[in-house]
Amino acid sequence: MLNRNDQLDAWDRESFFHPSTHLAQHARGETPTRIVTGGEGVYIVDRDGKKSLDAFGGLYCVNVGYGRPEIAEAIADQAKSLAYYHAYVGHGTEASITLAHMIAERAPDHLNHVYFGLSGSDANETNVKLVWYYNNVLGRPQKKKIISRWRGYHGSSLMTGSLTGLDLFHKAFDLPLAPVLHTEAPYFFRRPDRSMDEESFSQYCADQLEAMIVAEGPDTVAAFIGEPMLGTGGIVPPPAGYWEKIQAVLARHDVLLIADEVVTAFGRLGSMFGSEHYGIKPDIITIAKGLTSAYAPLSGSIVSDKVWAVLEQGTDAMGPIGHGWTYSAHPVCAAAGVANLKLVDSLGLVDNVRDVGGYFRGALADAVGGHRIVGDVRGEGLLAAVEFVADKDDRTFFDPALKVGPQIAAALLKRGVIARAMPQGDILGFAPPLCLSRDEADVVVQATAEAIDEVA
Ligand code: PLP
Repeated sequence: MLNRNDQLDAWDRESFFHPSTHLAQHARGETPTRIVTGGEGVYIVDRDGKKSLDAFGGLYCVNVGYGRPEIAEAIADQAKSLAYYHAYVGHGTEASITLAHMIAERAPDHLNHVYFGLSGSDANETNVKLVWYYNNVLGRPQKKKIISRWRGYHGSSLMTGSLTGLDLFHKAFDLPLAPVLHTEAPYFFRRPDRSMDEESFSQYCADQLEAMIVAEGPDTVAAFIGEPMLGTGGIVPPPAGYWEKIQAVLARHDVLLIADEVVTAFGRLGSMFGSEHYGIKPDIITIAKGLTSAYAPLSGSIVSDKVWAVLEQGTDAMGPIGHGWTYSAHPVCAAAGVANLKLVDSLGLVDNVRDVGGYFRGALADAVGGHRIVGDVRGEGLLAAVEFVADKDDRTFFDPALKVGPQIAAALLKRGVIARAMPQGDILGFAPPLCLSRDEADVVVQATAEAIDEVA
């Protein structure tokens, strides 16, 4: 008879298909099964009682921190009174309608209409379909291509995995699909010519985009999608002038802009929305993670008044919009969202990000920036990265087989701090809950400095 822990380990290997996992290594027992049992504030606890400071907030989603009774109680109350009703043909619940209103109130002024999904991926699927519908209504059925960026991350479904600009998400799945094109990443540290300053590199990126639109034919390009600040592709703030120049190109060719704010919305960069932070005026904003701080799965597409007017016109011509999920606006998830957004306000988290974020990034740069293998320390708000290089002057990459990033993340975990080895390049990412304190930031910085020293 196996004890409970051994039983769970066995069931895990036999039956649980983990996402984003090396399946063969896991089956052979080379990656341990880590069962997380609890969380409080910025800490999680595993079944062995080991406490770790989660400096990546789960998958940069637990924005208000773990163990918030206000959200747990809102979920329980909603599940007890009405666990489910659908939102088709005009149905709603108090929670879903209230949440839509709260999002519209917080979003930039011209974005007022919220379509709910469950994940960032399905929200971006929705966005592509809305953009296609929009152009069909306007009588431009050939205007359908979507341009995203190398190193962008927009999900891992068929269309959104195509939009994502990372090899790992393409190569074994025959992606990207045909209507998707990728343009230059705004990755200043790895710009093609080191003599470019930020403004001239931004101009270069905008020129590349414009050349692609012109080569494809502006009447075939429907939308550009980008995260205000690159996330999974390396945590890279845009260079100065980037969004202004990109938006000028899009306006010249009547190409819609989708701002994927799955990571950046609701405070991560020190503003309620990343669009606000960088002066972006999108046609659609994608939200997910921080909408409920991951207490329940929920995403949304916030649609501008301009796009909305065309969608309404379309339904007058063609009937109800043929797009909906069973769980769109699920009341339990919406109740979690309402409680979560109230907490973001009452805890003053956006202000905390500005204060502690600046402190944390400054301390991190001071502590590790001069290290022989640290090429770059960068970020904005409470989203930061350290990029490792084999040679500081030439910025050469380490041999990927050395797994420098994952080794440093493992050395950090031994010290009770979770950071993420980002999927492409040797980049260590930090996206702690937005309630991080200065003392907790110190713990992360010290552990990071020690972990780098241990590995290099
Ligand atoms: N968009 C961005 C910017 C993301 O970072 C992510 C996930 O990390 C997604 C979309 C996809 O969200 P999900 O994993 O909920 O499908």
